[in-house]
Amino acid sequence: MHKTWDLIVIGGGAAGFFGALTAASELGNDARILILEKSPHFLGKVKISGGGRCNVTHACFDSRQMSLSYPRGERALLGPLHRWGAQDTVDWFESRGVQLKTESDGRMFPTTDDSQTIIDCLLNEAGKAGVEMKLSQGVKKILRNDGNDSTNNGTRFEVTTDEGKTLSSHSILLATGGTRNVSGEKLAQDLGHSTEAAVPSLFTFKITDERIEGLQGLSVPSAKLIVQGTPKLNSSGPLLITHWGLSGPAALRLSAWGARKLAGLDYHFTLRVNWLGDSQAAREQLDKARQEGGKRRVSGASVFENIPKRLWQRLCHSAGVQPDCTWSQLPKTTEQKLITELQDGYFKVVGKSMNKDEFVTCGGVRLKEVNLQTMESRLCPGLHFAGELLDIDGITGGFNFQNAWTTAYLAGHAIGQAPLVS
Ligand SMILES: Cc1cc2nc3c(=O)[nH]c(=O)nc-3n(C[C@H](O)[C@H](O)[C@H](O)COP(=O)(O)OP(=O)(O)OC[C@H]3O[C@@H](n4cnc5c(N)ncnc54)[C@H](O)[C@@H]3O)c2cc1C
Repeated sequence: MHKTWDLIVIGGGAAGFFGALTAASELGNDARILILEKSPHFLGKVKISGGGRCNVTHACFDSRQMSLSYPRGERALLGPLHRWGAQDTVDWFESRGVQLKTESDGRMFPTTDDSQTIIDCLLNEAGKAGVEMKLSQGVKKILRNDGNDSTNNGTRFEVTTDEGKTLSSHSILLATGGTRNVSGEKLAQDLGHSTEAAVPSLFTFKITDERIEGLQGLSVPSAKLIVQGTPKLNSSGPLLITHWGLSGPAALRLSAWGARKLAGLDYHFTLRVNWLGDSQAAREQLDKARQEGGKRRVSGASVFENIPKRLWQRLCHSAGVQPDCTWSQLPKTTEQKLITELQDGYFKVVGKSMNKDEFVTCGGVRLKEVNLQTMESRLCPGLHFAGELLDIDGITGGFNFQNAWTTAYLAGHAIGQAPLVS
């Protein structure tokens, strides 16, 4: 008789490994756990994540606060993050010899600045726990046995690989990642689940505009962005000018919160930019410059600490400030145009560009079909989900891996509570 696994994990990414390890620690050494990975490498995304450094999580230790960083899954993740949050992730890695450090913006990385440290840790732990791992074994079909467990010797699932091999398992953890890869989505659908359509999140904005052309590399520390016509769709934070348009946390955040809406607009919309952020002191600052340096040229130097000189000069030019115009000569109407440029400049976005350090798919298995305490399917007992396959995605900063650790922990824990099959 062929071997029956306690758990087959489909997908050897962050969520798949973490779920397998959690289940193994609950079930003990007798557990029979198998990870099937379609590609020739385990943890491929961990490897390339965070620019090769792996932004493991975010230094946000309050579950409510942390849940606010998930445009999809915000409320659903509140309970799960309470049970397995960033501190648990930090403790888990540190107790296995992986020290993490926090950068000024809250992102946490291994002190080695090398994603291989995380990969080595997960692979070592899986080896020690006796988890079997198979590469280049994509799963193309999962069949759920009808009838009660005793008639099937406890086997609830038959898994068929791309090569046509059939394996039996009591539990399944589906952790196939974002649903741009349709094979995982199809497995979930075949078992009765419905999914939200996949669209990209965490992208930057393509803009061709002479106000920012050639200024790549310049940034402002706290801009505010609004999608014209949808004032609720806004974001604040550092904004970076790139050679193709606008990027940086403010742009990425907006792309995440607006992922569906902006996809619906085919990434063509008007972006309103307030380069000064929430500060409303533009007029006062210009009045001060006029009083204190009436003979100075307006475009000679930025009067805002946070606006770099070259950007200031472009905004002055766009507002119609003549190159030799001094502060005392500046007409009121031009001053008003300059204030508008500073606080409400309109930019035409004509496409998107993926963020190279982190990107993620919005969409996936609908959360209402999943028990969020156990990550078990409400439609198919014994089937669990974790990671990006779920309709959960976070903004940039380590939140997407935290989602993988959290949901995988809950799934692995619940699977580990189930009695072993004889
Ligand atoms: C370039 C880049 C950088 C990123 N950087 C960060 C970062 O620094 N911090 C952060 O929080 N997030 C980051 N992310 C997002 C993060 O990588 C993902 O959210 C996370 O990897 C999701 O983990 P997962 O295990 O759910 O899916 P994945 O890591 O995608 O793993 C799923 C695995 O399943 C396998 N698979 C798929 N279908 C099958 C099948 N049918 N049978 C068998 N195996 C299958 C895939 O080959 C894959 O190995 C980044 C993403 C990218 C693309």
